[in-house]
Amino acid sequence: MAKVRLEDIKRRFNNVTAIEDISFEIPDGEFWVLVGPSGCGKSTILRTIAGLESATSGKLFIGDSLVNNVPARQRDVAMVFQNYALYPHMTVAQNIAFGLQMRKVDSKIIQERVVNVARSLSLEQLLNRKPKQLSGGQQQRVALGRAIAREPQVFLLDEPLSNLDAQLRDDTRAELKQLHQELGITTIYVTHDQVEAMTLADKIVVLNRGRIQQIGDPQNIYARPANQMVAAFLGNPPMNILPAIYKDDGFDVSGQLLAIPSYMQDNLRLPQGQNFNLGIRPEHIFINEPQQAAENQNQLVVEVKVVEPLGRETLIRAALVKSAALLNIQTSGNVRLHPGDRLSLQLDLNELFVFDPK
Ligand code: ADP
Repeated sequence: MAKVRLEDIKRRFNNVTAIEDISFEIPDGEFWVLVGPSGCGKSTILRTIAGLESATSGKLFIGDSLVNNVPARQRDVAMVFQNYALYPHMTVAQNIAFGLQMRKVDSKIIQERVVNVARSLSLEQLLNRKPKQLSGGQQQRVALGRAIAREPQVFLLDEPLSNLDAQLRDDTRAELKQLHQELGITTIYVTHDQVEAMTLADKIVVLNRGRIQQIGDPQNIYARPANQMVAAFLGNPPMNILPAIYKDDGFDVSGQLLAIPSYMQDNLRLPQGQNFNLGIRPEHIFINEPQQAAENQNQLVVEVKVVEPLGRETLIRAALVKSAALLNIQTSGNVRLHPGDRLSLQLDLNELFVFDPK
């Protein structure tokens, strides 16, 4: 196991800068997730750590060694891709053993490792099968097993669950987390799926357009996103982002005025007339009872468009009556609402975010 440190890593492909200013240090044994939309540079970072790409500039350390010029196979890292790429003519046991045989590891040790890996991934019954006799989930477990058997210093995973169907993806995700708890190998995991990022990570690195937007533990990033991109990316349904104007000591949201407590105004320091984007998570919006609605000056009025009962909770998509801007609202499972209903909403003012509209 080893820590991994990137210092100001940059990678250009001809005229395209894929990543830049990439700096972080992953402590030994932690599970970090690189997350962001397609094309943001996640795979380039991972491939650079693996040695499959070389950095245009910057320094990369694995443990205490500078490895910029160390070839991939000498870096003591193992990588698993989304297309598991097993050897089709080999059995599961042979696939797991292959990397060790190439390294001329003693055959008794290989056998032991195959048995141990098979046990920790529940593959014992499948060791004599060929890949085509396995389900997608089982194949991916074999690919993981092949990587683990090498006992690498660092484990690199590039969207390893994206070819699995939903149920299998959830199960394998939980297995991966457990496996990491058992083995404690420093792990770097790339995904565009924010649920995977939130559930697996000790720390999340959010990327956009080749740059780091925020690094932090999942709860903290969710509660205190550094900017609108991070806020809108993490969360399902995503944070609501509404264009607003600061005026008359309140927020004008499409012609509906939210009065803002004075302590918030002091912190905001927005000039009157300033345009900005207001962020509010779906779980921080509450539906007023009719009585409250009649009395409340500080509310947004919306028309229900879609109601999605999910059992434990209900998701409502509703449009602001004066602008048709859509809002996601997460509420309890037992509301009885229909498209066309008018609602008065109360926002949790402590959970509002103010973002630069640029
Ligand atoms: P992600 O993994 O987040 O989807 P990538 O790291 O694959 O993103 O790509 C980041 C950017 O670098 C993209 O704009 C992509 O087009 C570009 N890129 C990646 N690899 C190459 C390459 N081999 N040649 C040219 N451009 C590349």
